[in-house]
Amino acid sequence: MQVQIRVEWLSESALSVGSTADAQGLGVDKATARDNRGRLLIPASSIKGRLRHECERIERTLGGFVCLPPRAEQMCPLAHPQGQCCAVCEIFGSPWRPAPLRLSDGTLLLASLPEPIRTERELRPFDAQVRPGVSLSRARRAALGERLFFIETSAPNAGFRFQVTLEGELPSTRHRALLLAGLRCLSLLGGGKSRGLGWGRVVRWTVDGVEADEAHLAALIAEGGYG
Ligand SMILES: [Zn+2]
Repeated sequence: MQVQIRVEWLSESALSVGSTADAQGLGVDKATARDNRGRLLIPASSIKGRLRHECERIERTLGGFVCLPPRAEQMCPLAHPQGQCCAVCEIFGSPWRPAPLRLSDGTLLLASLPEPIRTERELRPFDAQVRPGVSLSRARRAALGERLFFIETSAPNAGFRFQVTLEGELPSTRHRALLLAGLRCLSLLGGGKSRGLGWGRVVRWTVDGVEADEAHLAALIAEGGYG
């Protein structure tokens, strides 16, 4: 079945979606990812990784077999007991199976911004901030020569909304339901979880061209057996 889902993801804390491309010019170790017009961006690969993780968690909770990315030999169909693909690989693909689902980058919705920063000029002074951190060795629980680093994050509490489109030919309504359930649990994007960065949620849904409220969404998820 052909599926098209469009969501708006509201960033509820500062967001750290790293890019080292611009970092040097800014004098930071990691800059926020941006499109070619300087607007904040969440790369599709970053969204796909987190979303896949949420779908794996849900499928496993319900007792379904789920393989163990990212190592190729632990993924379907090699890792599958019947040499097939798990529901998650049937949505997101595996090293041996192209992903039926395509995701767009998360693009910043300018309409969600306050008036002064909605213009096309350089947004960086308004939409980002630089934070210091110290590199820690997890094994030794000690600062690595107390190396101080700086990352650029999006401004906190700015209410940034990012639009993401997901589309493709999925095997069944069950797969669509798993995908929707995963999106509903998508509360984290980018890095810096331990520093409280990257929290948010989907606040607006369009499924196959129809704007879906909470009841419609719940019905679609239940129809696929994930309700
Ligand atoms: Zn799999």
